[in-house]
Amino acid sequence: MAFAPLSVLLHKYRLVVEHTSNMVVITDAQRRIEYVNPAYTRVTGWRLDEVLGRRPSELLHGPLTDQDTVRRLRSWLDQGQPVVFTELLNYTKAGEPYWVQLNIQPVRDVLGQLTHFVAIQSDVTQQRQALEALEASERRLAEAQRLARMASFECALGGDVAAARLWWTPAAVDVLGVGEAMLPADIAAHLAAVHEEDRAALREAYRRLAEHEDTYEVEYRVAGAEGLTRWVRERGYRLPSEGHAMPGRLCALLYDITSSKATQDRMEYLAWYDALTGLANREQLQALLRVRMDTTRQSGRQLAVLFADLDRFKTINDSLGHHIGDEVLKVCGQRFRSGVRGNDLVARLGGDEFIIVLTDIADVGVVARLGAKILGALSAPMHIEGRELHVSASLGVSLYPQHGDTVAELMRHADAAMYQAKAQGRNTLVLYTPEMHAHSARRFELESKLRLALPRRELSLHFQPQFRASDRRLLGFEALLRWHTELDGWIPPDQFIPLAEEAGLIHQIGDWVLDEACRQWRRWADQGHAHLRVAVNLSAYQLRDPALASRVAAHRERHRLPPDVLELELTESVAMHDPQVSIQRMKTLKEQGVSWAVDDFGTGYSSLAYLKTLPIERIKLDRTFVHDIERDSDDRVICAAAIQIAHALGLELVAEGVENEAQLQYLVAQGCDVMQGYHLGRPMPADAALALVCQAIDPAGEPPPASP
Ligand code: C2E
Ligand code: CA
Ligand code: CA
Repeated sequence: MAFAPLSVLLHKYRLVVEHTSNMVVITDAQRRIEYVNPAYTRVTGWRLDEVLGRRPSELLHGPLTDQDTVRRLRSWLDQGQPVVFTELLNYTKAGEPYWVQLNIQPVRDVLGQLTHFVAIQSDVTQQRQALEALEASERRLAEAQRLARMASFECALGGDVAAARLWWTPAAVDVLGVGEAMLPADIAAHLAAVHEEDRAALREAYRRLAEHEDTYEVEYRVAGAEGLTRWVRERGYRLPSEGHAMPGRLCALLYDITSSKATQDRMEYLAWYDALTGLANREQLQALLRVRMDTTRQSGRQLAVLFADLDRFKTINDSLGHHIGDEVLKVCGQRFRSGVRGNDLVARLGGDEFIIVLTDIADVGVVARLGAKILGALSAPMHIEGRELHVSASLGVSLYPQHGDTVAELMRHADAAMYQAKAQGRNTLVLYTPEMHAHSARRFELESKLRLALPRRELSLHFQPQFRASDRRLLGFEALLRWHTELDGWIPPDQFIPLAEEAGLIHQIGDWVLDEACRQWRRWADQGHAHLRVAVNLSAYQLRDPALASRVAAHRERHRLPPDVLELELTESVAMHDPQVSIQRMKTLKEQGVSWAVDDFGTGYSSLAYLKTLPIERIKLDRTFVHDIERDSDDRVICAAAIQIAHALGLELVAEGVENEAQLQYLVAQGCDVMQGYHLGRPMPADAALALVCQAIDPAGEPPPASP
């Protein structure tokens, strides 16, 4: 046998590697990528030139990637061991998740020296999804069987179709709801007892069974003894006639399906209506809107889609509880309904989002007038469980036919206009313009970028100093998160933190913030300033994590922080959400010695009685009150009162947003404890904060470098 020349062999290997559907990654002994094949590029979106020299483990990163497995992989490879059939969830360059099965072989030279690693990776996303779907359908089947066992008891009927006689088991009394004496003796009597609308179907089933069919199944109504309608399912079989040529001996099982029919009616209702408000739901809205669009086209007039989102509904829900939130939604539904004409549509999409469709519109002025009427109707005070609540909404409007030809397009554009209404200060109505589309597209784009912010090291913390009011001594810093991207520059936390919460990235980011804040504190401590405090903001979602206390403890231990220098900040509405759980979680951390501050005090619905039950040390008065001290006597009074309330509760008061000397003097005179604000120091990068710590700069002197 002749050997092929080496070049031919190499060419063949190359063909295999470049055309296989598996991803191939080759690294050097230090695990730096030397080669990836086209399949890798296709699946992950990373080009060869982008990954050359990088470590594959850097690319195994994403919100749900199992970092334990990644660590395990790394330790196997560190020991020069192969990795076989390891499955992992990973993310493409664009942040799309995919499941990958990894096989990695170390390659050694003739001396046994490790030279390369060759990894073959297969994309097993589809297998994974199929498996998950199978498991889900098996679960559903088991559940259905369980429900069926619970919901019906059986009875049997024996019969002779030809002779038309019937026999019944005793349970028939329960299923048919009649006394034993009333059980039908033959098929004619049985048919007579069946609701007349269902009778023909049953008669037809018997006829077919007598002729040729082996089984039948019919659902019908009967009137029980109490006159109540019952639903019965009858499932029959033809019995083998043992040599006789006589056809039509039958046996049937009967089930009482009254309750599942009722459930079905309810399900049919729920498929089209919103259970809470009784308004149309999204499905019904879409179906009806399509029809209205057709009639509008024929009439040559216009139609308006109003996207309504309640303002600050989350605050109501979080601070007053879901049952009050639900009542508010019901009342809003009624008010929307009564604010429009009979032919208009009102639907609830879910949460606090409603859609109103105004039909037969002659010009946009009509929409403006009706919109104002709707907002007016909504703004009347609501009385719920003895409380007076004020609710408003932001409305975004899109018009048919100008702004789109499909339901989806009209809704998307009304939604974009609604966001604009929120940005314009809420309780207002905004008409869609094409530029807004760009806005929602940008939001989507930001979310995908945020997924990559951590691995790309685009996040950082800035630190804003806090001073003792009486002598302006530096007490510590509040850590404030910053995101810088090459393309968009600085993106403010108010924009991306809600996005991180929605996208489920907040735990990862919050963890990073805690760790980084502790790491920076360690630098101050190492310079002899271990008495300084560091304050970290927590999101509502972090407080809902049962492992929060142990996470915090782990970060503290890693950077050797005594507990009393760490302060956690929560807004009042967050602490009010599910108070029992929140308070318990706060207490667990307080037992570690960590302290708590309530942020943005004065912006929510907190009652003082409630504040007393929270295990907190400090209240941070929202900067809007400080802002107007000089102009607004109400705000002056609120500031002074807040200080007194805090002291009466044994708490310290921190004034935020102190921007000038007049505000500062007023707050000092009122006995405020701690101050923070541009006048005393802007948020600054970590190195500038360290410099401030070391120089113990006089805060009234040179301002430290400004933060964006
Ligand atoms: P906050 O906790 O109320 O933070 C104070 C905000 O007020 C900061 O805005 C700060 O730059 C700004 N500020 C400080 N002094 C003054 C002043 O004298 N005048 C004015 N007008 N503003 C002042 P920033 O950094 O944009 O943060 C906004 C919000 O983002 C924070 O409000 C906080 O709710 C949230 N946030 C920031 N970092 C984090 C974080 O790490 N995690 C979480 N969950 N939220 C964060
Ligand atoms: Ca804060
Ligand atoms: Ca605040």
